[in-house]
Amino acid sequence: MIPHAKPLLGKEEEDRVLEVLRSGMLAAGSYVQEFEEQFKRYHDSKYAIATSSGTTALHVILQALGIGAGDKVITTPYSFIATANAILYAGATPVFVDIDPATYNLSPSALNTAVKDHPEAKAVLIVHLFGLPADMDAILEIANKYNLIILEDCAQAHGATYQEQKVGTFGKASAFSFYPTKNITSGEGGIVLTDDSMIEEKVRILVNQGQRQRYYHEMVGYNYRMTNIHAAIGLEQLKKLDLFNQKRIENAKFYDDHIVNPCIQKPVSPPGRRHVYHQYTLKMKNRDAFTTYLDANGIGYGIHYPLIIPAQPAYKNMAACSGTWPVAEDLADSCVSIPVHPALSQSDLTTIVEVINNYR
Ligand SMILES: *Cc1c(COP(=O)(O)O)cnc(C)c1O
Repeated sequence: MIPHAKPLLGKEEEDRVLEVLRSGMLAAGSYVQEFEEQFKRYHDSKYAIATSSGTTALHVILQALGIGAGDKVITTPYSFIATANAILYAGATPVFVDIDPATYNLSPSALNTAVKDHPEAKAVLIVHLFGLPADMDAILEIANKYNLIILEDCAQAHGATYQEQKVGTFGKASAFSFYPTKNITSGEGGIVLTDDSMIEEKVRILVNQGQRQRYYHEMVGYNYRMTNIHAAIGLEQLKKLDLFNQKRIENAKFYDDHIVNPCIQKPVSPPGRRHVYHQYTLKMKNRDAFTTYLDANGIGYGIHYPLIIPAQPAYKNMAACSGTWPVAEDLADSCVSIPVHPALSQSDLTTIVEVINNYR
């Protein structure tokens, strides 16, 4: 069985974690600061605040911006649920706009329509889905014209670039996740990046129980801190990020060059973007027959995602979820992600291509 996802952890991570255990500094500690330092340096950003997850990073970004009850945030219906959940946690209302049929990212033309229908919307939370940067030129133009704050969910796109600029540096603030299936991991974990000192200050207080000074709580905050153990893993993983991404890109290139099957549509990567292939997602009719076939042939896969967010049981009765999003709905019915992670061997890749090309 070739697994669909697999974190690559080595002696470096083991040694660092042991160091932390032996130091006794399990929660707050120097590796958290060092991880923040290295992560912001990698992005040439001013501030980084480590968090307990990508979800909590998104939540505190919205809250730090003062986005709450009565506010609308435009986002994609086609993402992991946490993107939209964070908007609800903040007390705001999501406005879902359809995706682009080629890139599966937020459609700029749908965004353009949405800002006219919802002129009071405060922000647009974009997702660089599957590792492919969103259409930033078009999104920036619309956001500037309508005074929309851009926020980025980079949970699937560590190290991806749009015209040489790293994702996570386009908007007012961005969130990353270090869950084990992501391009790098810390176990559980996340981080907020921003160049805005007001946001950094607020986020730091929010993730730490609303306190700047111990036991003086100036707001109702959360325990959203990253631990020193998780930071130790993240620190070693960050050193390997470019290597991991390079391998993902090579694996994707192998699929691009070798998967030939008229039943199957491969993902695209428009020029000027460095797609870091968090997922390599195929599109096809009769997906169930294909996944049964993959099961029978020992190839792991993932369905990202079987339901669009507004169709989820937890969402579908909300007023914001009463529209239709035909492009996203079609993708939800026809997508299958195949293994693209850096732990794949050449023989795994050859097997996967052979199995897929033999599918009828
Ligand atoms: C994984 C993911 C998140 C949430 O990150 P966690 O660390 O699991 O909380 C948010 N958005 C997207 C697009 C994700 O893929």
